[in-house]
Amino acid sequence: MKDKSFLMIPGPTPVPESVLLEIAKHPIGHRSSEFSSILEEVYENLKYVFQTKNDVFMYTSSGTGAMCAALENLVNEGDKVLSLIIGNFGNRWAKIAASRGANVEKIEVAPGEVIDPTVLKKRLDEDINKEIKIVTLTHSETSTGAANDIKTLCSIIKAHGAISVVDGVTSVCAMPCKPDEWGIDVLISGSQKGFMIPPGLAFLTASERAWKVYEQCKHPSFYFDWAAHKKSVQANSTPFTPAVNLISGLNVALRMIKKEGIDNVNARHKKHAMALRKALKAMNMTLLVENDENASYAITSIVPPQGITVPDIRKSLKEDYDIVVANGQNQLKDKIFRMGTLGFVCDRDLIASVGALEAVMHKLGHKFNLGDGVKTLIEELNK
Ligand SMILES: *Cc1c(COP(=O)(O)O)cnc(C)c1O
Repeated sequence: MKDKSFLMIPGPTPVPESVLLEIAKHPIGHRSSEFSSILEEVYENLKYVFQTKNDVFMYTSSGTGAMCAALENLVNEGDKVLSLIIGNFGNRWAKIAASRGANVEKIEVAPGEVIDPTVLKKRLDEDINKEIKIVTLTHSETSTGAANDIKTLCSIIKAHGAISVVDGVTSVCAMPCKPDEWGIDVLISGSQKGFMIPPGLAFLTASERAWKVYEQCKHPSFYFDWAAHKKSVQANSTPFTPAVNLISGLNVALRMIKKEGIDNVNARHKKHAMALRKALKAMNMTLLVENDENASYAITSIVPPQGITVPDIRKSLKEDYDIVVANGQNQLKDKIFRMGTLGFVCDRDLIASVGALEAVMHKLGHKFNLGDGVKTLIEELNK
């Protein structure tokens, strides 16, 4: 049976029917009082989800747009930027910084690993003249499924005096992420990941310290300009024509998140990711991120067993069960496959996915006790 496609990838993620129906309505005028009251509620609830007192800006773009909105409003030519790279998305920060003429230094680790806080501290301690102005980092690295200890890393950056710029595209909603409490200076995210709506919106929030750096930016972005967006947020408006339908859908999705409670939403993601990891281990599967402590709650990367290829696994899951899992990116292509537990995912989805994966691995000749994955999963989910 077709037309029952189910996405288990780290974005786009499944969208609730109530959100889809809201998005399907006729567009309304973006300067109408009706839309303004939607924006008022959305801006308020975004602060709740981002767990910040500061404004959260909304951009009509994918997540990368918000990454540009961060660095293009902070970096002047020649500025020193330290990029902490644990995968593709961390490297994207370095590329954007370089595109603005920054002097970029990288600290890079192998796929599946995370940044060691003592390594960061040592590098920043060496910077006695405080040349490093900005440190970019990724919370949940979607290309590997590893997650940095953002709380510790950002406190080290704050103690040095640099500005921390954090990619929270697959962590906001999925993992505890508290910019005000943890001293994250700039935090960005995107709509098609934890927010349960389709691609097309991106978000950014900035601390007072980050605003001081923004004020010294000689050529801030026009489309993503922070000051223009701040003014609009305060007027329950947007600087340009936004994706009105997506924002109406976001309003419904944010109400759902608020109703569940952000801590409960985080806890659900943790429970799902950890249960999935245990189930996969019970199936004799190898995880790219070995330690639970370093694992993202949004995405799990699996190394296929000897003799069974990633394309075969993905093809069988798609053809036999209409379940889509992601391949690895770049150098990890065909080396791992990735399962998302991000956004609108419930226990049933996980049971169905692990059951289907068992069926596929069994068919492809992988050696394990059929049923052990689902059994372990259910035991974990019922705890
Ligand atoms: C998806 C994603 C992005 C943004 O990608 P877009 O394709 O521009 O939406 C950035 N960082 C991470 C960690 C992501 O998962």
